[in-house]
Order: sequence, then C-alpha cells, then structure tokens
Amino acid sequence: MPSKKLRVLPLGGLGEIGKNMTVIEYDGKIVVVDTGLMFPTAEMHGIDLVLPDFSYLRDRADDIEAIVLTHGHEDHVGALPYVLREIGSPPVIYGGLLTIGMVRSKLDEHKLSDAPLQELPAGEKVQRGPFGLELVHLAHSIPDMRGVLITTEVGSMLMTGDYKFDQTPVDGRPADIPRLAEIGREGLLLLCGDSTNADRPGVAPSESSVGPALLQQFSRCKGRIIVTSFASNIHRVQQVIDAAVQLDRKVALVGRSMRKNYNIASNLGMAKAPSGLFIQPREIENFPDEKIVVISTGSQGEPLSALRRMANNDHRDVQLHSGDTVVFSATPVPGNERAVNETIDRIYEIGATVITAKDAPIHASGHGWQEEIKLMLNLTKPKYVMPVHGDHKRLRLHSELAEAVGVDGANIFRGRNGLPLEIDQNGAKFGEDIHAGTMYVDGVNIGDPDDAALRDRREISADGIFIVVVTISNDDGTVVADPEVIFRGVAFLEEADALVEELSDLVEDQLEDAAEKGTRESHLIEEDLHDAVGKFVFQRLKRRPMILPVVIEV
Ligand SMILES: [Zn+2]
Ligand SMILES: [Zn+2]
Repeated sequence: MPSKKLRVLPLGGLGEIGKNMTVIEYDGKIVVVDTGLMFPTAEMHGIDLVLPDFSYLRDRADDIEAIVLTHGHEDHVGALPYVLREIGSPPVIYGGLLTIGMVRSKLDEHKLSDAPLQELPAGEKVQRGPFGLELVHLAHSIPDMRGVLITTEVGSMLMTGDYKFDQTPVDGRPADIPRLAEIGREGLLLLCGDSTNADRPGVAPSESSVGPALLQQFSRCKGRIIVTSFASNIHRVQQVIDAAVQLDRKVALVGRSMRKNYNIASNLGMAKAPSGLFIQPREIENFPDEKIVVISTGSQGEPLSALRRMANNDHRDVQLHSGDTVVFSATPVPGNERAVNETIDRIYEIGATVITAKDAPIHASGHGWQEEIKLMLNLTKPKYVMPVHGDHKRLRLHSELAEAVGVDGANIFRGRNGLPLEIDQNGAKFGEDIHAGTMYVDGVNIGDPDDAALRDRREISADGIFIVVVTISNDDGTVVADPEVIFRGVAFLEEADALVEELSDLVEDQLEDAAEKGTRESHLIEEDLHDAVGKFVFQRLKRRPMILPVVIEV
C-alpha cells in the first residue's frame, strides 16, 4: 500500500463555539465537512458575521470532491454562500433532507440557486474520488442531524457533528445506535466528536420532556403567551403548537426565520398543525389575550429579532403589556448572555412576566452530556480521538472522558484550528500548522481582522476622533484660513477650549514648516499633521484617538 496520509484539518470550531469547518484530505483530494459561521461579539463594531478563514481552499478548489453538511444550524452551514462565492461550487453538496431544504432557501437568497445540493439518505454509501461517504442519523435540536463517516484506504473516520442520545425524541427517531456499534466493530480509525457539553455530568434530558413542562407553564397563564426559541428547533416549535392546541389558543409565528423554517419543515412533513390554528401576526389584536400563543424569534437577544423589537416597544404587530408572559424556551449560547439579560429586563420594565429555563424545565440541550459522549466513544471504539466543537476547556474535558473509557492517552489529539492531524499506517501525529484565522463579513464583503475598517471602528469607539481641516493656497502652499479642529467622542471636556487652541497653533506651525520646506503634496502634509497631532494629543490626554487631517487646496 502506498504511504498515503489521511489529513484532517480543522479550519474552525476548535477553541471556540461556532464556525465549524473541517477539511479532510486523502491522495490529493478533499472532502469538506460543514461550513459554519459565528455571530460577532460586541467588540466587533459593525461586523455582521464571523467566518472561518478558508483561504487554504482557494488554490485547492479543483480538488474538492464534496462538501458534506451535518445539519442546518448556522454554526455548520452559515458560511456556505461565502465559500461558494469565493472558491466556486464543488461537484456536490450532501446533507439530510431538512438540511438541504434549509440550505437551498439560504442559497436562493444569496442568488446561488444552481449549487449542486443533493440529499444523501442516512445509511446510503457513495464513493467520491478516494472517499467513501455515509451519513449516520443522530438526534439533535434540529431534525435530520447526520454524523459523517468517511472511509479511505487508510481507514475510516467519523465526524459526529452535534448529537445527543435522546431515547425519546419528538420524531421517534433516536440516534442510529446499531449502526454506530457496527462502525465500532468494523474498526474506526478516528473519531472527531462534539465537545459542547463535555462539562456536564450525566445525561441530557430528552426533548420530549419539554412539551409537558411547557403545557404546565402555559396552563397557568391568564394572558397572552409569547414563546421564543431557536427557529430551527422544529421539534420545540411543534411542542409549543401542540400545547397551544390543547389549551385552545391560536398561534401566530412571528419573525422571518420562524415562518420560513416552519414552512420548510411543514412542506417536508416534519411539522404539522390543525387547519385554522395559525393566525397572521396582524390579527393578534382581534382575539382575546387568553386565546393567543405567539412563537417568536429572538431567544438569543439578537438586535433585530422580533422579540427584541417587542421588548423595545418597536414591533409592528405585537405590543407587549402587563398580563403577557414571555417564555424563553432556550438558553443563551455563550457570548449572548448580556443581550438576553437586557431583553428580559426590558420585558419586566413593560410589566410582562418572564419564564426562563431557570424557572422550569422548558428547555433541553441538543448536545449530549458526559455519559453520552462516553457512549459514543464506547460504541464506535475509535483508535484515535480528536475532540472538536468546543472551547479549549471542553476539548480537554472531552479528552479526559476518552481516557476514562480506555482510549490510550497517546492516541488522543487536542488540536486547534489550522493544525492538521495526519494519519497513516505508522500512526497519527500533528502536521505543519497552516494559517487558520477568522474572516469578517461587513455587509456583503469579506475581510480579515486587520481590515482598516475594523481597526478604525475600534480606535473611534475607544478614544474618539479628531478631525483637522486646513485650507492652503494652491499657488504657494500658504495657509488661507484658520485651521479647524473638530472632535467627537473624546473625553476631556474641561480643557477642551484650551486644547483646541493649542492644537490650532500646532497645526499652523506645522503648515509653516511645510511651506518653508516646500512640501506641497497634500497627502504628505496630511501625514505630517497626523503624526504631530497624534503625538500632541497623546502627550496631553494619554489617549490615541483617530486623527483625520484634511487638507483643502484653494
Ligand atoms: Zn447544532
Ligand atoms: Zn454546532
């Protein structure tokens, strides 16, 4: 057998929660598993989305045999439009039925309708170049979650994607435990498993335990009920609908993604409601409060979401008032806690009541807890383990769980983004690091973190901005009007006038110097002004605001 290597290169998802993307290489060919994104933190001023840096694929586009998507969550599929636009379309994009449905709708919005999306039914084996591919059904907080089994001459590897071993899932389709055990018996070379809940001892509660808890909470409510959850959590939305039916309430779906995902799922037969149950959001006011359940986006406090708008008294169809109960059937994803808390507090200010997962068991995580991670390891019996999908703490805890069930510590690889794991018949080891940072989407453009725009926003947000406008003569470079100094967002109010005066003097001196030296190009004058003003402001204020000199020639 030739000494070919199986190479597993994570571009995102390690040392962080989000933007999952892994490149699997063998014999010069590539399969990409997931193309996820991450939502920006508050420090990323004005950035819309965070993507993995997939520039590694740019020169290798022709080698890609397939992109395989584990499920329809944004942290697994959200970067796909950008990947397709930047590196072109692969021969095929595989996923489960709902995943393909959701991705098709997303790509249509990005005008990428001719992408080669194809459902690959669980258990069906296909060969793409040197890779045998098979999807394995697993349970998660979205239907049609699939692990990806990739087989090469060197051996097989399983990317679990996100999973839990829910024994009573709402759709009656638990994880395909028999197939996982079979994979273990056939001999699994490498397992890359979800680490999200590696810090939680025990077993995650079943999704079907949420329905009765919701019904119990709803039955106590006298006024309107507004439930928020992830729009992609079709089974949760279904359970809210079922509770509303039992209590003889009408249901309004509010928020674009809530309506869109429900329609996709309902067209695929994965969600159902009796006819006449749904009303339009604008009809809510036509019904008594005790006859209404609103299912809304915004469980993460997203700024433009329907619930956030309601909390800000800024929603066209739903005006919250006392007597309403807002039910958070979700927990904040790490990083979103503050936005969620703000939303909750505004709802209290309005006078409505809030119920969260801390008050009642109205949420169940879609990621398995420690005993489920151990079960995955015991079923599939991998030779090598590389934990994925988690921050460094959870990757470490996942490694410890693997050791606890008997995986040789030397065969457990705690990786990071950009560090490829290379396996051949001689063993496994990390290869050479490649650059795997982050890319930002600002509007529709993709940039990197060193982008001038983001650096500017950071400077302005931290220390403000000074604008210096000078007008010089086109003929001899002499100053024709007093320099003007404008500042915004700079904290030094008492000394402002004196400082501006000193600054004007400084600017005049600079311009005289420039005229004497015969410097006439306005960009050179601007550079000198920038440096001099920056130095002066730092000496006086110990701050580095953005300095923006503007030279006007008349
Ligand atoms: Zn997920
Ligand atoms: Zn995920």
